[in-house]
Amino acid sequence: MYEFAVTPAVTQLRRPGVIITEVTPGGLAEELELRPDDRIIKVNGRTVRDYLDFRFQTAGETELTFRVKKPDGETVDIEFDREEGEDFGLNFEQIVPRQCANECIFCFCKGNPTDARPSLFVRDEDIRLSFLYGNYTTLSSITDDEMKRIVEQRLSPQYVSVHATDLKTRAYLLGVSEVRADISGKLKTLLDNDIELHAQVVLCPGINDGVQLEKTLRDLAGHYPKVVSTAVVPVALTRYNTDERLTRVTPEFCQRTIKQVEKLQKEFRKTLGVTFAFLGDEIYLKAGMDVPSRRHYGNYPQIEDGVGMVRTFLNGFEKLLAGRKTESKRVEAVQLARQFFKNVRTHPDARVPELKQAASPAKRSRLRGTIMTGEMFAPILGEQIGKYNRATGSKLKVLAVPNTYFGGDVAVAGLLTGQDYLRVKDEIDGDFVVIPKHTIKSDEPILLDGMTFEELRSQMPVPIYDLDTPGLMEFLG
Ligand code: SF4
Repeated sequence: MYEFAVTPAVTQLRRPGVIITEVTPGGLAEELELRPDDRIIKVNGRTVRDYLDFRFQTAGETELTFRVKKPDGETVDIEFDREEGEDFGLNFEQIVPRQCANECIFCFCKGNPTDARPSLFVRDEDIRLSFLYGNYTTLSSITDDEMKRIVEQRLSPQYVSVHATDLKTRAYLLGVSEVRADISGKLKTLLDNDIELHAQVVLCPGINDGVQLEKTLRDLAGHYPKVVSTAVVPVALTRYNTDERLTRVTPEFCQRTIKQVEKLQKEFRKTLGVTFAFLGDEIYLKAGMDVPSRRHYGNYPQIEDGVGMVRTFLNGFEKLLAGRKTESKRVEAVQLARQFFKNVRTHPDARVPELKQAASPAKRSRLRGTIMTGEMFAPILGEQIGKYNRATGSKLKVLAVPNTYFGGDVAVAGLLTGQDYLRVKDEIDGDFVVIPKHTIKSDEPILLDGMTFEELRSQMPVPIYDLDTPGLMEFLG
């Protein structure tokens, strides 16, 4: 049986199987009389725990038996054949995240206001979500079953929060015993079985920086190419993080870190042929320095962790401005942005399709509106939008929105809330306002402070659009 190693407070009783949420009309599943709310508990005699198991156990199989539990409790076996690769026409319930059992000193949950959206308090540590979405896990409470599953189902790559390879330091950061913090055996198992890993270091001044950081990066680089890359991102403290062991990240600290890591990056490029250790964009922005060039990032292995997003945006925007009059260049710029900014998790209902109408050249020159973003990215976006205004005659304004909801060092666009947007609504100019799409929850139109998109929309003086970076490029292009 699959073992969910969870902290008692968040233990969820899981019934075996995976629940069907949708059956495509006219598809194979409908023919088999499968219905929403049916639970597939076995495929060819093997237990199914979630849709990943279902995918794994049906892959390549043409002769199948499903054991299905109907909502009324009846259990039926359905035997059937399918064409090779034939789709079942089924959608399943989402994976219920397994919870971590750590007490990291910098845990984001401790930095949440008490009224934040409940899902912000979910401490997910799940190898399945790591594989599917690039969520980081510490591996410190991963069970033998989960280790076996990674290897057996080739759930590769995995994203691992290492933080420090020095055991004492790692245990201190994770708030667990050294025995628990020690993942050397697990890492060896994964690497020996050719599971690729991407590592992360959440950099906490005075704890895992300096000599510790150098040791961590060198130790991890020793496992390249199986450890593919390492992201170093700064700890972000809200006004609710009052733990005295933590020190805020300053511009001087960022400048020192850049200098230190640049030396290592140079060395890795020489010995490994790749940069390997990447600093988060926030570190360059806080240091007041330019982000590195396109070449530095290779194929952007850690872009989902905020590493290289600014460079991608700048390059895409440059292409957009340079190729404003050429359709192929405009398309190229948008495609480039789409490739890296996936934003797959924003709720579809929050999309506002009519915005596309503004994209004709005549309308572009009349664009008057406000683009809201976090204080950190605002200067960069503002510079590019300034160029765009000069080139097109549009009057777009970039509005840096202070994050008063979380407060502290939080200045990234992704953590802006409904309350933050409303606090600056009097500064909106023009006919519409754009907010970053990823500030809205993936599966329902709700913001981080629990405000619904509808509530926000009703209180704004102008129409509000949520756009991701490709969406913004498409709109402007
Ligand atoms: S930071 Fe992540 S691993 Fe650490 S306690 Fe919080 S949720 Fe768990």
